[in-house]
Amino acid sequence: MKTPAVPQDICLHIPPKMWQEFRLSMMKYQQYDEEAIGFLFCKRHQVSKNKIRYIPKAWIVPLPECYELQSASGLVLKQQFHSYLIENYLEEGLHVIHIHTHVSHTMLDFSLVDDCHESEYSRFLTSKFAKKPRLISGVCDESLRQTHFRIWDRKGKSYQKIRFYQSWFEIPKLEKSNDQIIADPRSINQQDLSSQTNSMFIRQQIFGDACQKQLGELKVGLIGCGGIGSIFVELLGRLGVKNWVLIDPDRLEMSNLNRIPGATKKMSDQRWHKVDYVKYLIKKIYETGSCVKAMPVSIDDEVAQQEIACTDLIVVATDNHLSRKITQELALKYMRPLVCLGTHIEVNQSDNRPRMFCRITVPPLGGGWCLMCGNMINLQRAALESAPVEINQIVEKAGYIEGINDPAVFWLNSICASTAVSVIHGLVSGFLNLDNGIDWIFDFPNWHKTNVGFLETPDCYFCGFKKPDLLFQH
Ligand SMILES: [Zn+2]
Ligand SMILES: [Zn+2]
Repeated sequence: MKTPAVPQDICLHIPPKMWQEFRLSMMKYQQYDEEAIGFLFCKRHQVSKNKIRYIPKAWIVPLPECYELQSASGLVLKQQFHSYLIENYLEEGLHVIHIHTHVSHTMLDFSLVDDCHESEYSRFLTSKFAKKPRLISGVCDESLRQTHFRIWDRKGKSYQKIRFYQSWFEIPKLEKSNDQIIADPRSINQQDLSSQTNSMFIRQQIFGDACQKQLGELKVGLIGCGGIGSIFVELLGRLGVKNWVLIDPDRLEMSNLNRIPGATKKMSDQRWHKVDYVKYLIKKIYETGSCVKAMPVSIDDEVAQQEIACTDLIVVATDNHLSRKITQELALKYMRPLVCLGTHIEVNQSDNRPRMFCRITVPPLGGGWCLMCGNMINLQRAALESAPVEINQIVEKAGYIEGINDPAVFWLNSICASTAVSVIHGLVSGFLNLDNGIDWIFDFPNWHKTNVGFLETPDCYFCGFKKPDLLFQH
C-alpha cells in the first residue's frame, strides 16, 4: 500500500481521569533526579479518510524493581517486564504508547538516544507481531504537564508529531492559539464567523470567545429525537452547537404535540420523521453554517453507529433500555463522552398524587462506572426489548415494559433537557468538573445528586478497564 498523499490527522485522546492516574503513578515511581517510563496500550479508530484516533485500553507504570537501570542519564527495563507487556498487551494487537520523562534541567524534547531506541523498538514491533502494532512515543517533564507526542512509521525510519488531548473533547483549547504546535484542521476555517453569528451570541460573551468557538465546532450525536431530544436540540443549538447527527426511526404523531417545540398538526399529518423535524429546528436557528445528518433508523443500524462513533459527544434520550445499552457500549468502545437523559411520571399509590422524575447521567469518560453497572438501565428489560414481537406483546400485557403511552409533559422534559445543556456548557467552558461523572435525579421539586464514588465498579463487564497486576516484586 502506498503512503497516502494527504497528510493524516492523528490524535491521541486520554480521558482526564485516566491521565491523572497515570501521571500520579509516573510521579510516584520517579525518584529525585530520575527519569521514569510508562506505557499505554491503544486501539485505533479511523474516524474519516484522513483522521485517525488512538483510544487507550490499558496502561501500566513499572515499579522501580522492574528497572535494570533508572537514572537521569538513562532507563533500561528488565527483560521480564518486556515479556510481560508482550504477553498481556501486544499479543492482543494493541498499539503501544511509550512515555518517558526528562528531568527538568534538560531541554524538553526527544534526544538522539530516544530517536535511536524508538526507531529500533518500532522495527521490533513490526517484525515480531503479525498485526504490526504502531509505536507512539511521548516525552514529558517531571510533572507530566508538558508533553510532546509522535508516532513512528513501521520501518522505524520517520515519525510524525501528533496531537494529544487530556480533556473530554478533542477540541483544542483556543486561548493560546499561537502556542499550538500543530494546527488543528478544524480551527483553520473558523475565523470567518459571520457577523450575524457574532451578534447572535453577544449576550453570552461572558463565557468567553474560546467557549463559543468550541461550541461551534462540537459535533453532537443525538439518539432519540422525541420529547426530550427536541428540546435539548433547541437549547444546545441556540447556545451555539451547529453540527449534529440525529438518530431516531420514529415519525411524529398527534400525541407528541403536547411537548415538542415548533411542531405542527400538519407535520404530524404528513408523518414527518422525528429526525427531519429536529433538523428543521436547527435550520431555523442557523440559516447557514450548520451541518445536520438526519438518519431515520435505530441505533442498532451499523451506519448509524459509525456516524455516532465520529461525534465529539453522544446524547441518548430514548424511552427504552436497549437503545441506551447499545449507546453506552458504543461510547465505551470509541471512548466518547455520553450524556443520558430520561423522565418518568407515575402515580403514587398511597396518596394518588403524581410523582415526577427526571435523570441526567454522565458516566466518567474512559470507564469507572457506566449505565449498566450503575443500574441506570435494566439489562433484563433491554433483553426483553430485543426479543421477538410476540414475546414483547406477552410481557407488555403483563405490564413489564413501559409503553409509548407513558405520561409525559413539556415542562418536565424541559427541566431535564435544559439541565443537560447546562452540564455540557459547563464541560466545554470549564465551570463544571465531570471527571468522576455525574448522576443527578430530579424528584419534583428537589434535586438529588448520587455520590458517584459509590458507583465505581472496577470489574464491570462493560466498563471495566484492564488493570495491571504488579507481578514484579520478585
Ligand atoms: Zn529521552
Ligand atoms: Zn460499568
